[in-house]
Amino acid sequence: MTRWRYAAATDTGLVRQNNQDAIYVDDRLAIVADGMGGHAAGDVAATMTIEAVRAEFGARANVEGLFRAIERANHDVLADASTNPEHFGMGTTVIAIGLTEDVQGVVSPTLVHVGDSRAYQLRDGALRRLSDDHSVAEEWVRMGRLTPDEAAVHPRRHQLTRGVGVESTIAVDVMSLEALPGDRVLLCSDGLSNELDDDTLARLASAPRGLDEAVESLVAAARAAGGRDNISAVLVEFDEVNVATVPVKRTISSSPAPVTAPTTRPSVRRRARVTWRVWAAALVFVGVGLGFVAIVHWYAYSTYYLANDAGTIAVYQGQPSGVLWYHPKFLLDTNFPTSQLTSADAASLRAMTTEPSVAVALNVAATWHQRWVSGHPHSTTTSTSTTSTIAKG
Ligand code: MN
Repeated sequence: MTRWRYAAATDTGLVRQNNQDAIYVDDRLAIVADGMGGHAAGDVAATMTIEAVRAEFGARANVEGLFRAIERANHDVLADASTNPEHFGMGTTVIAIGLTEDVQGVVSPTLVHVGDSRAYQLRDGALRRLSDDHSVAEEWVRMGRLTPDEAAVHPRRHQLTRGVGVESTIAVDVMSLEALPGDRVLLCSDGLSNELDDDTLARLASAPRGLDEAVESLVAAARAAGGRDNISAVLVEFDEVNVATVPVKRTISSSPAPVTAPTTRPSVRRRARVTWRVWAAALVFVGVGLGFVAIVHWYAYSTYYLANDAGTIAVYQGQPSGVLWYHPKFLLDTNFPTSQLTSADAASLRAMTTEPSVAVALNVAATWHQRWVSGHPHSTTTSTSTTSTIAKG
């Protein structure tokens, strides 16, 4: 059996206009939530979180139920923020101890935690911190980038890396507590832990007079130290306490929230439809690609031109300068020497004007040759238009 006695207090402090912390404690559940958000939204997030944890843990008082309680709080806060514009961006820390029953029927304390509210265990006047802060500065300490002293004054010590109501999934630190009768555990918001050093916390929380006096003195000391934030403290003292048969110490992450849009199709069917679409898109893509290649190929080889091939006029197929990766192809030699051209026709040859067909190109070459022959009546040359048809390409 595990039994505790408890006391709790929360205070707005000396600077803040309202109290966005929320606390709860009974004979098997203790919670501190430090809300954040504009106007009263932080208060909404903190209160909503306490209600969700109480309801969920009330239905299932085991480790699973405690984790699900935080998950549900996260869901509830997000859902509210998405429907109420004035609550947009609200969130909260949460730290809670539940007396959880395990499969052996043993009831023992379990801590769950997200954010920078803290848990301390007190034994014989000594204080031991149980929770890691999920703040940028403390994560850097754990990575070795900052010393604890540097983190204590670092400007990003208040910037949380995890919180309730921040993302659709949440990672929760879950830890079985090992306690002895007479041990106390303090849950508090940063408005207490930032104002008081560890020695003061240990001394006031361990004060033997009683839990109520201890809690009141903690809040009063934080106010006296400046009270710059809302101050909350929940203190429990174990009269009897068990240890879990299978102790837990790990971070449990929720799986992504299911898609809320209603769907009547089985997922396999939906996947098949997606595959069909992907194939259709791929076919269209390939078809367009092949069409492009065909058009380029046709364009590249749709024309012919005359050019000098080692002193002979030759017919080439293609565009003189090529098209993309298509280079012109040698088709045939006409056997007309390039030396037997008028200067104007020699210029035309160099210009490599394209012609629509092989026949037209051959006709042009023959015309050039005849023009030169008519200007050189005594020359001895091949004046035939008969052409070779040796194609190298
Ligand atoms: Mn705070």
